[in-house]
Amino acid sequence: MLHGKPDEILKTQNFELSAFKEHFFVSFSQFSLDSRLEAGIKDMGYTEPTPIQKQAIPHVLAESDLLGLAQTGTGKTAAFMLPILQRLIRGPLRQVRVLIVAPTRELAEQIHQTAVDLGKYTKIRSTTVYGGVGKKAQIDALRHGAEIVVACPGRLLDLAGEKHIDLAKVEVLVLDEADRMCDMGFLPDIRRILKLVPNRQQTLFFSATMPDDIRDLSDNILNNPVTVQIGQIAPAKTVSHALYPVPSDMKKNLLFTMLDEMATGRVLVFTRTKRRARFLARDLAKKGYKAEELQGNMSQNRRQNAIDGFRSGKYDILVATDIAARGIDVAEISHVINFDMPDTVDAYTHRIGRTGRAAEEGDAFTFATDEDAAMVRDIERVLKLRLERRHWPDFDYGDFEPQKALPVVQNQRPARQDGGKSNSNYSRRAGDRRGSPGRRPQGGRSQNRQSS
Ligand code: AMP
Repeated sequence: MLHGKPDEILKTQNFELSAFKEHFFVSFSQFSLDSRLEAGIKDMGYTEPTPIQKQAIPHVLAESDLLGLAQTGTGKTAAFMLPILQRLIRGPLRQVRVLIVAPTRELAEQIHQTAVDLGKYTKIRSTTVYGGVGKKAQIDALRHGAEIVVACPGRLLDLAGEKHIDLAKVEVLVLDEADRMCDMGFLPDIRRILKLVPNRQQTLFFSATMPDDIRDLSDNILNNPVTVQIGQIAPAKTVSHALYPVPSDMKKNLLFTMLDEMATGRVLVFTRTKRRARFLARDLAKKGYKAEELQGNMSQNRRQNAIDGFRSGKYDILVATDIAARGIDVAEISHVINFDMPDTVDAYTHRIGRTGRAAEEGDAFTFATDEDAAMVRDIERVLKLRLERRHWPDFDYGDFEPQKALPVVQNQRPARQDGGKSNSNYSRRAGDRRGSPGRRPQGGRSQNRQSS
């Protein structure tokens, strides 16, 4: 366990998931959790704790403050939820004792669902508070009594201002995806929320990145915290990254060709704008793919239906914008395809965090035009990672020569995803099971097709 400044820890720690498991394997039973929680864990199908759970749970159980530097997909929600549920089993029911603040309603729903699932054999209640839907049901649920409130900042402040929620008895405050909350302009709201929870005994702070404003905030509100960091602040190691240079006007055809020719599971496609998400999803659906859009102009109900449909298999392809895709908790996303380059390195990390969740493998493909060269350089430099340049062998690029586009900048120190085994920009990882050029499912058609 690491005590100290996050940036010092960043320099020294670089856990490999498999090595970590070999040396530090523990089962959930070693945390001595209440048997009702162990039953909930069993029902979820978790057999062993993920690295962040192994590291964080004993300290959160001991009621230490925690700074968790981990991205979504590492199992961080259960890492804080299990000790929280263990605390709540003791002590009074039907008063708000835990407040969890998250940037988006999708993430709030996901955290709430984790509380419900893991706490299903207990009497503990969780409820959500977020904007974009009516207040009445939320007010009713609060009146009914809940020990855990999972909230987005704006609506929480509304309801607190209208005296529908009393936060004076909150014992544990969790700020999840703090960096994203700052990106979204919630920092002033967070400061207001902190004033509403003066009696808290424990604060847990999670962030995937540590820009200065986040470091200041965590320094201010955490009391002698234990720091837990999983991996570099970079995408999960189970994801293989590839860059597909392509002119803008060929992107759509390239996507169709790829989807036609490769074996995929669930595919999450990112576009830069809501409008592009809508049109691309419609074009895919017209071609017979089970595709749906997920963007901020949709009602909360439609967004939830899109996510639920993606989870259940009704849709194989979800075309999303960055904000709308925050907090999607769908296991087994085989491919993230950046149809448009993300605007920031952070957005790249968050998008890619949607695949390879909880140590599953996944592929991340990024389409890049010449205008994206600067962002490609930034991603490679900041994440110390080389995006393997690839072209799709059967695709008609016309006069465009993908092999000559976006050359690797030589003075960077790449951390190859294939362990440096191959020198070719176009080679595949050994053992790569899905989604690589030249490798087709039997019959050469995608399983994504409803009909051919
Ligand atoms: P999170 O990082 O909290 O968003 O979790 C990512 C995914 O990992 C979720 O689908 C969790 O249900 C799953 N998960 C969390 N803990 C475990 C575990 N110990 N074993 C297997 N899956 C897990």
